[in-house]
Amino acid sequence: MNNLLLWLELRRWRAAGRTARLWWRDDDASGLATTLDRLLLDRLVQLATTTRTPLTLAVVPVGEMSGLAARLQGAELVSVSQHGVDHQNRREGAAAGEFPHDCSQRDVEEALAAGWSRLEKVPGALKVFVPPWNDVHPRLERALGAGGYAGWSAGGLLSASGTCPRLDIHLDMMRWRGGSRFRGRGRLLAALTTELRRRRRAGLWEAPIGLLSHHLVHDTAAWTFLGDFLRWSKSQPELSWVSLPELLAETQTRRAKALRRSATRLVSDMALAHPA
Ligand SMILES: [Zn+2]
Repeated sequence: MNNLLLWLELRRWRAAGRTARLWWRDDDASGLATTLDRLLLDRLVQLATTTRTPLTLAVVPVGEMSGLAARLQGAELVSVSQHGVDHQNRREGAAAGEFPHDCSQRDVEEALAAGWSRLEKVPGALKVFVPPWNDVHPRLERALGAGGYAGWSAGGLLSASGTCPRLDIHLDMMRWRGGSRFRGRGRLLAALTTELRRRRRAGLWEAPIGLLSHHLVHDTAAWTFLGDFLRWSKSQPELSWVSLPELLAETQTRRAKALRRSATRLVSDMALAHPA
C-alpha cells in the first residue's frame, strides 16, 4: 500500500506506542438462494479465513436461511448481524430508508422482531442491527433498546454511545452514484489516513475503524484491493483487526463499569446526606 501520508500517519501511531483497530462489515448477504450468491459468499468467507480476519455479515432477513446456516457452520471468524427488516425503500425523496417517517415505534419494533426471528438460528448470529443505507430513523434506537438488541451499526460515528451501543463503519469500498463500482485505492487509503488522524487528534486511539464491503457487487478491482489490503494490514504492527463479539464485549464492560461508578457515587452521596 504505497501511500506517503498513510505511512507518515502510521509512524505517528508507532511513535505513540498505539495500535489502531479495524473491523470489517459486509452488507447485503442473503439466504444463498442462487448459485452465484453461494459462490460469491464462498469467495468472501475464504478471504476472511485465509487472512485470519474477523468478518461480520449483515444479512437481509428475507427468504429461506438454511443454505446460509449450512455454509456458516464452523466458520468461526464470521459473525452475522441483521441487515434491516426486508431492505425495501419506503421513503419518498432521495434518502432511502425502510421505515416511513411517520412509522410508529410499535411498527418498527414488530418489523425488527420478525426479521430477527428468521436469523437467530444462523451460526454466528448476534442481535445487532444494521440499517440498510445506514439510515437512522428517529424511532429506531428506542425500538432496538426495547427489542433487547446488543448493538447496532450505521455509518460515520467515532465511538459507541447511547442506550444501544453503536459501532459504525467509516470506509466504504464502493461508490454508488451512477452505478456501483470500486471507490479506488487512492481514495480509500486517503480515507483511512483521515480516520487515523481523527482518532489520534481526539485521543480516541481505541475507537475502531469500520471497513464496509458489498461482496455481491464487487468488481475485479474491489476484490483485488480487499485481498491486498487485508494481507498488507497483517504486516503492519500499527494495525489490528477486532471482531464484532469483542467490540460488543468491550461496550458491555464499559457500561457495567459506568453503572458501578454511578452506584458508588449514589451511595457516598447518601452517606453524606445522612451521616451515621
Ligand atoms: Zn444493504
